[in-house]
Amino acid sequence: MRAIVQVIVDAPITQPLDYLAPETSGAGDAAAPIGSLCVVPLGTRRVVGIVVGDAADSAVPQGKLRPLVASLGEIAPLSAHWLELTRFAADYYQHAWGELAVPALPPMLRKPPGPRFAAALARLRKAPAARALPARDPLALNAEQAAAEQSITAARDFACHLLFGVTGSGKTEVYLEAMAQRLTADAQAQALLLVPEIGLTPQLLARVQARFPHERVVSLHSGLAAGERTAGWLAAHEGRARIVVGTRLAVFASLPHLAIIAVDEEHDHSFKSGEGPRYSARDLAIKRAQMAGVPVVLGSATPSLESWANAQAGKYRVLRLPQRAAAGEQPAWPEVACVNIKGTRPPQGLATEVRAALAETVARGEQALVFLNRRGYAPVVACDACGWVSTCGRCAVLAAFHKTDGTLRCHHCGWQQRIPRACPTCGNQDLQAVGQGTQRIEEALADAAPGARIARIDRDSVRRKGEMEQAFDAVHAGDVDILVGTQMITKGHDFRRVSLVVVLGADARLVAHDFRAPEHLFATLVQVAGRAGRSGLASRVLVQTRYPAHPLFAALARYDYEGFAQAQLQERRAARLPPYMAQALLTVEDKGMVQALEFLAAARALAPEARMRRYDPVPMPLAQLAGVYRAQLLVEAASRSALQQSLARWLPEVRALAQTRRPRPRWQIDVDPLEI
Ligand code: ADP
Ligand code: ZN
Ligand code: ZN
Repeated sequence: MRAIVQVIVDAPITQPLDYLAPETSGAGDAAAPIGSLCVVPLGTRRVVGIVVGDAADSAVPQGKLRPLVASLGEIAPLSAHWLELTRFAADYYQHAWGELAVPALPPMLRKPPGPRFAAALARLRKAPAARALPARDPLALNAEQAAAEQSITAARDFACHLLFGVTGSGKTEVYLEAMAQRLTADAQAQALLLVPEIGLTPQLLARVQARFPHERVVSLHSGLAAGERTAGWLAAHEGRARIVVGTRLAVFASLPHLAIIAVDEEHDHSFKSGEGPRYSARDLAIKRAQMAGVPVVLGSATPSLESWANAQAGKYRVLRLPQRAAAGEQPAWPEVACVNIKGTRPPQGLATEVRAALAETVARGEQALVFLNRRGYAPVVACDACGWVSTCGRCAVLAAFHKTDGTLRCHHCGWQQRIPRACPTCGNQDLQAVGQGTQRIEEALADAAPGARIARIDRDSVRRKGEMEQAFDAVHAGDVDILVGTQMITKGHDFRRVSLVVVLGADARLVAHDFRAPEHLFATLVQVAGRAGRSGLASRVLVQTRYPAHPLFAALARYDYEGFAQAQLQERRAARLPPYMAQALLTVEDKGMVQALEFLAAARALAPEARMRRYDPVPMPLAQLAGVYRAQLLVEAASRSALQQSLARWLPEVRALAQTRRPRPRWQIDVDPLEI
């Protein structure tokens, strides 16, 4: 009788499936060992699966068991550690194991291999061992950096470290040294470095490669071509690459000799997946380090309040880097001032004081940066005569005016239309652009600082690959006096001659209904402020606001993250919000809002009441997106484990409920949601 193997596949099936193992060739040599990839029949299809166990017996009668089609012996089995990690992630984020694990494989290994598979694999494995880049000697760490590095590498087992320091304080240098330590201590050891943005990986990759000229460093992110990503994944899986630098999906990289993990900008929301299983790569990185018994370091200038609370509770060790690391970078923190615009309407959105500061900066031959997280010319066009406002044709949101090409556009679904010449309801020809976007500010800047060379960086100005780098290069080369842009200008780039940073539009986030908005705003402002004064120039940050007395700005002026975090955590505790509470969000998309809410109400009725608080189903903040209606149901419990238990009982019933409905509702569960 042939052995039975248990296989997981990419389908919402809660239990692994049983198949007949292939005949073994030699005695005791399993042809489909645990962790190996295989091809199995599933209904009428053939799909890739992962062997996760064997069984003496199956509930399926012998005669009905189907045999494995093939075992992918060319790929070494995944480690027990990798299986444990993906299983944990699937359980925690409430998906079937295979639904999480199979998509975590690189693109070329997710589908049954074709006839040229072996040849393709051989080609991928031939990729160069290390890139010939000029090597860089490691920098001598300063005292705080050295202490941080030693604290991290001294740990012989799992320990979570929170490396707390402003941009430029030398956090990356600490990750690299700690990694180097681990890689020299053990000839096989591997390191994982997670970063939030694809855009930042090329620069960082070059830096890591220069630091480890003899090691193969691979990057893993969704922007790579299938072949490249598969090659990088295999190199890590087979131990040829000892360092992986990647975005959130890299948390699932196969690293059989993992010895250390670093998560840069750990507070960044891009670590949370917005599609498929809504996992947090930051949280999973910590869990993974714990499973592997290795150190993990989280770096940030503004740690997430979840991490800060854990540090306060003694679960994480805080390591501080209080100074800028590079010699000659004097002012540790720029001077921050608010420009009060309460009760005024600054012409073209720029207050007089801001205009003057910009003109002076340019006159001195220095650079200024203007941050406004809203692209387009104006967020809305309105008719004063009848009250008409421009809205998206498919979503329940305003449509922004883009002057450069004369369109109205939806920033959520991409809908666009030529701007009407007259009001569509009353025919009034005098339509008003209301409010400011980056395009409009660009115009205002030309007035404020005549003759200044102005550049704009946002998703409209840099669309093609490489355009963003070109634009930043122009800033570095000194060909730009004033740079205006969205979130894109706040990250990672080292601007040497910037002595003035202007912040516009912050008020929208101060008054937002989302309880995480202040935390997010503080992090963004610290990041923008960190762009100033990198070269020893005395520098200033001007925040144009109607709420100059808001405590957030006072904390920003002193870069008092700790005071800010403490106040926020107190509020969260009093209001019983995360991290003092665990939440999950059940969302559904439907053709109509009534049906969507009805489905959630039925789901709510099935929820166990005992330990889980259930709110009422409500339309999502963005209630209609691209023609689809969206609603949500929030549930919460006193702890993550209590929530887990309730969800595990409830969600199978929700799944069954969804099965009975026609048309089948599209629902999702988001555990630890960041946006509610
Ligand atoms: P962070 O990751 O906190 O932003 P980095 O590690 O990128 O900081 O360091 C910021 C700058 O300071 C980089 O240009 C880096 O080369 C330099 N730097 C870091 N550590 C040192 C050091 N010990 N001595 C001199 N320069 C350093
Ligand atoms: Zn009108
Ligand atoms: Zn839209």
